Amino acid sequence: MSDWYTETLHSDVAQRLRMGRILFRDKTEHQDLVIFESPTLGRVMALDGVIQTAEGDEFVYHEMLTHVPVLAHGRVRRVLIVGGGDGGMLRRVLEHPGVERVTMVEIDRTVVDLAIRYLPSISAGAFDDPRAELVIADGCRFVKETDQTFDVIIIDSTDPQGPGAVLFTEEFYRDCKTRLTPGGILCTQNGVPFLQPQELRDSHGRLKRLFADVSFFVAPVPTYYGGFMAFGWATDDEALRRWTEAEIRPRFEGAGLKTRYYTPAIHAASFALPAFMLEILGRSGESGEHR
Ligand code: SAM
Repeated sequence: MSDWYTETLHSDVAQRLRMGRILFRDKTEHQDLVIFESPTLGRVMALDGVIQTAEGDEFVYHEMLTHVPVLAHGRVRRVLIVGGGDGGMLRRVLEHPGVERVTMVEIDRTVVDLAIRYLPSISAGAFDDPRAELVIADGCRFVKETDQTFDVIIIDSTDPQGPGAVLFTEEFYRDCKTRLTPGGILCTQNGVPFLQPQELRDSHGRLKRLFADVSFFVAPVPTYYGGFMAFGWATDDEALRRWTEAEIRPRFEGAGLKTRYYTPAIHAASFALPAFMLEILGRSGESGEHR
């Protein structure tokens, strides 16, 4: 009989993955960590009962949460990643030739060490890039104390439970805003709206009190069960969310990116929100189109 990994993120529904070889299973200083092989998804990492990343579909999540803000901004030199222990986000940010420095603040060193050891294809050497700086610390505390500023801040967090809960608070978003350069963009991992509508509503309300333009963009990530995943978008420059495919394409080609999910057409389309999401956000009167 084979073992199954059952996710415990939602109270009424759960996804199960058949586990092949279990490569690691133990408690770190901060959370329960398991890495196993899935016949369909390759190697999978889960923290505190929630799947974080899988070799098979990590490209959807990581490409969208990096290429959309970096290409929309257009002149990104410094980036902050909060969380992101598997290194997939770091790798995709570093693919942009104009990026001079990426600071990644991850609370759990064991996640980084084990991801490098067991999931090397995800970071693909990014931690050795001289432009990358890894800080092991609570992201909330880091943004409060640092005097550095960033053109883009990406919150690649766990869900709002355990050590990740602070990364969804208004105070944390406020501190992030003070660390953004003018026209800077804050992007967040914001869960699956169909199953986590309150998370979407809460983040929207908190960000709205701080930024002139707040919305979400979406992508379907198969291992984050339940339909589209939402990514939070907050900036004071509304134009950055309204680029067309034709406007983004030269930036994409100029950066020389090779992608498996992201395209300039998907970039523009990802800001069009389905009606049920607009309803959750109290924006039902809108067309759902981003222009
Ligand atoms: N893609 C994933 C998802 O949506 O499920 C997120 C993956 S990433 C591995 C999440 C990382 O955030 C973990 O490595 C975790 O240790 C880190 N993390 C959680 N709370 C944190 C905090 N307060 N400061 C910095 N990193 C944190």
